[in-house]
Amino acid sequence: MGTKSREVIWGSKIMGANLRAGQARKDAEKAIREADRAEAEAWSLRMEGYGGPSQPSPTIAQCLNGGLGWLEVECNKCKTRASLPLDAIRRPRDTPIWKLEASLKCRSCRKGRYAPPVHMIKLTETREITPYKWVHPSEER
Ligand SMILES: [Zn+2]
Repeated sequence: MGTKSREVIWGSKIMGANLRAGQARKDAEKAIREADRAEAEAWSLRMEGYGGPSQPSPTIAQCLNGGLGWLEVECNKCKTRASLPLDAIRRPRDTPIWKLEASLKCRSCRKGRYAPPVHMIKLTETREITPYKWVHPSEER
């Protein structure tokens, strides 16, 4: 078998296998994205419908990957709601979002070190409320 025909036979086989690998990888990424979205939606519906429990929850990465990149929170005291972009929160992407709750504070209710607790309402695809000045976890310290 000459070099030419070997290339024809093996070359096309390899190319085919590479294409299948690429397609399978794309399918897998799509499946993961769908699973992330479903998990984020389930958590969001539980929060909105039942008010919790917030644990366990998907991670920041899962929410972003699933396309639900906004977290809506409400101040327990003044009932102001805010939508926070998850991609702007400077936390490791594998942080479960329930862990963010404790570090979120309503700026207008904050007095020195004390701030009334906030609670998470739901996840959304886009910003649903006008931005409001909230203290971000990344602004702490
Ligand atoms: Zn408040």
